[in-house]
Amino acid sequence: MGHLRFPGTDTLRDLVPVWRIAKRHWRGILAAILIMVVQAMANTGRIVLIYPILTRVFMPPPVELVSDEDRGEDPGEDGAETPSEAELVIKAVKSRGLGGVLESITDSINAVTVNLVPESWADSAAPPDDPSPQAKELRTRRLDQFATLISSFLMFVLATIVMCAAAYGESYVAARVQLHILMDVRQAVCARLVQQPVGFYDTNRRGELVQRVLGDVEGYAWALRTVMGGVIRGLLHIVVTLTLLLAVSWQLTLLVLLGVPLLLPMRTLMRRVLKRAHKRQQETANRVEVLLQIFSGIRTVKAYGTEEHRVQEFRTADEVVTRRALKVQRAKSTADALIAFVNNFLAMALGIGGGIGLLLYPDVVNPAQLVMFMGLVTNLYQPMKRIVRQLTLLQDAMASVQRTTEYLEMTPGVPDVPEAVPFPGISRGVTYKDVSFSYVPGTPVLTDVSFEVPKGATVALVGPSGGGKSTVCDLLLRFYDPESGAVTIDGSDVRAFQRRTLLARTAVVTQTPFLFHTTILENIRQGRLDATKEEVVAAARAAQIHDFIESLPSGYATQVGEMGTRLSGGQRQRITIARALVRDPEILVLDEATSSLDTESEREVQAALERLREGRTTLVVAHRLSTVRHADRIVVLREGRVEDVGTHDELLARDGLYAKLVRMQDLSGGPSQAS
Ligand code: ADP
Repeated sequence: MGHLRFPGTDTLRDLVPVWRIAKRHWRGILAAILIMVVQAMANTGRIVLIYPILTRVFMPPPVELVSDEDRGEDPGEDGAETPSEAELVIKAVKSRGLGGVLESITDSINAVTVNLVPESWADSAAPPDDPSPQAKELRTRRLDQFATLISSFLMFVLATIVMCAAAYGESYVAARVQLHILMDVRQAVCARLVQQPVGFYDTNRRGELVQRVLGDVEGYAWALRTVMGGVIRGLLHIVVTLTLLLAVSWQLTLLVLLGVPLLLPMRTLMRRVLKRAHKRQQETANRVEVLLQIFSGIRTVKAYGTEEHRVQEFRTADEVVTRRALKVQRAKSTADALIAFVNNFLAMALGIGGGIGLLLYPDVVNPAQLVMFMGLVTNLYQPMKRIVRQLTLLQDAMASVQRTTEYLEMTPGVPDVPEAVPFPGISRGVTYKDVSFSYVPGTPVLTDVSFEVPKGATVALVGPSGGGKSTVCDLLLRFYDPESGAVTIDGSDVRAFQRRTLLARTAVVTQTPFLFHTTILENIRQGRLDATKEEVVAAARAAQIHDFIESLPSGYATQVGEMGTRLSGGQRQRITIARALVRDPEILVLDEATSSLDTESEREVQAALERLREGRTTLVVAHRLSTVRHADRIVVLREGRVEDVGTHDELLARDGLYAKLVRMQDLSGGPSQAS
């Protein structure tokens, strides 16, 4: 028995991080719980209201005339005053506990409501002209019966109104809290993900990340909805109902609780659901990824006519998810069936057990109690059923919660050292000093790379694809930090500067221009968020894109399609150059993107880059050697090592790798290498 845990204890532990976020909203949560208590009480209270109707209207005790002799033992004082007169006795139903309380409440309300009952309604019990005490009593009681019906009706209406109001309040208050918590979680996950180093995005697929921010947070929603809406509410209902049941009869309550062990197999079922749900989440992420791939690569898909193949790929991924969902559903359905069995079994047991009790011990169990009991038991098993099902769903959702938690607990990447200072600006230049780096430990990508970029100079990185050119740039941008050696500016390690202040004076133009899905104006303004329209226009002019933008119907307000599909490659490139210009950086990192452009566009882009480079310290990854001729210095990189450094003429004269690359390019008339 020692290892037998209540189903869901693991889950409860996993909920701790949920609570950590949720506790900020404790007021809302408390309000929701209070409303739930009211609702549970009103809901259960309605069932209890049948009790007075049963005892007074449906099964009233007989009215009998008893003579003095029959009363026997105690003829004493009372007998002295009304010696031989027959006396009226009403056999009262033995009402203890809750029954008794209900009786006295009904008595008090009836004292008022009886005034609403017309006197003539008593005629159905005994004629008004019958003077006998028995007839009088019968008439009184008939009036009380009508009063009871009216009282019960009024109380029922009241309880129903309270219950419905509470139901509205609960569903709104709870939903409101949940939505706010979810918002916090989503935003926290997004913020945390954005803080991750670039390397994080190399190893995580976009589909998975989107799934994580939006999909898995849905799991959180489930967890909250089930914990608050299902489990807590269910528990409250159970507590209220059990209290009432015990108040009515503890013997019958014991009988009811016998059914609880029947629910134990639920635990195994829930584990199964959890395991399957975990897999399903992964497969769902995969499905998202497939779709993203199709849509972002739609031009390639269409150009190669692989639509059918791609759709088939999606079909396969989708089918996998559906099959898994069916498996999860199978376990859930089994759980439902088990509960249905227990539920019906118990109703039966209660009917028969209670019946036997009624016959054997009429003093302990009366029919009104039994009827009330049967009503209450549904109220007991209904929430139990809900809780068990919700816990199953919760386990399902926990898979998402766990992953979300993992992300929330990630440390933000490449943080500043505590003593980092604001970047004061460049005065001498950038130096790479014996820099070594590897993405995967043991596979060096850069080895002892050393070179200098004097202030205001342009240094071009050339060499075969995969030689490490982009990596060199990434180290300056602090996307990664070197394993050994250092990138320094004016002799200080770049790590000594606050990253944000360093990057504020640096601009990047990437090989594949990335435009955000917003207006051209906003896209350029990404370079400096507080740039004025005039500054943006000036930058666009310098980037030689202003006239084109003006020629568009909406000018600078033109929306750029996702990934800039509405613009040509050269136009997009020049917009990103304008973005860099508006930043007015001291340091420039250029990943030349001339290979994909036609001659005309390339000339325009080159001219724009020329403007951008003026007076700035520039590191440029050159793909087209013709464009690096005028670089102040060329660094030839091969397999992560600096093979040679010099000007175009010096390197040609040495007739090394650079000269070979130039010859190759001259022959092909195109880029020497496509990286
Ligand atoms: P280049 O810009 O000269 O083409 P890169 O700097 O892009 O070269 O790449 C240098 C080497 O590092 C290549 O072998 C490449 O496969 C590897 N590499 C680049 N980026 C990553 C990454 N994020 N994770 C692992 N390896 C990488």
